[in-house]
Amino acid sequence: MSRRRQIYEGKAKILYEGPEPGTLIQYFKDDATAFNAQKKGTIQGKGVINNRISEYVFTRLNHIGVPNHFIRRLNMREQLVRQVEIIPIEVVVRNVAAGSISKRLGIPEGEMLPHTLIEYYYKDDALGDPLVAEEHIACFGWANHDEMQDIAAMAIRVNDFMAGMFAAINIRLVDFKLEFGRIWDGDFSRVILADEISPDGCRLWDMTTGEKLDKDRFRRDLGGEEEAYQEVARRLGLLQDDAGPSEVLDLTKHRKLRGK
Ligand code: C5P
Repeated sequence: MSRRRQIYEGKAKILYEGPEPGTLIQYFKDDATAFNAQKKGTIQGKGVINNRISEYVFTRLNHIGVPNHFIRRLNMREQLVRQVEIIPIEVVVRNVAAGSISKRLGIPEGEMLPHTLIEYYYKDDALGDPLVAEEHIACFGWANHDEMQDIAAMAIRVNDFMAGMFAAINIRLVDFKLEFGRIWDGDFSRVILADEISPDGCRLWDMTTGEKLDKDRFRRDLGGEEEAYQEVARRLGLLQDDAGPSEVLDLTKHRKLRGK
């Protein structure tokens, strides 16, 4: 039985008070939502995989000097992170047109963008996370100019790093979402990367087949989401080698069964 104080419950994670001041425990659920929680479901084992993938990516980002909230993984579903003051902006980085940009601007899915795009969405469920300009962010004081400079620079570094990391395992990084937060040292604050990086918040396409290996399988009722998440973890070398055949789900098998 857990007696920890719950700080916040989101759609895919729960935050608990951490063991030391300034820390939190981030618990990864199997719950999945899409279209601003109009569609709800579970992806079996997603929390375990996302915890592991996010640990891996944040640790590697730390090694290349992208400051982030990750401290250490605690167990299968939990990680210890630094408490931050979340900046209420979802930062979306796009390399290839897909999802909302295709819908909004009529760009066919899969079309390479002329250059990497960074978009900002105001985090507000009631408003459906609207797209906003940097002017709105400055005008309403959600982040200041220097913070936005740091955020954009970090987003580009994360994109360059992740695009290479995924290309090495034959996966195209189409787009992804980041969140940032402030940490305070006396009167001074600094922005660091927070939240998670996992197939929940990225579009990942197999480079050879174009197959989707991310949450779009859930959003678009393609099925095989468990297998897709596992496939990403497996290619990153994060699945235990001794996992028996019953534990390793096979996307190819799923494809044959479902004919998708
Ligand atoms: O829906 P859209 O095309 O704007 O999503 C862009 C990227 O941001 C996708 O990888 C999606 O998974 C991610 N995203 C997210 N959380 C949101 C909105 C988008 O992780 N609330």
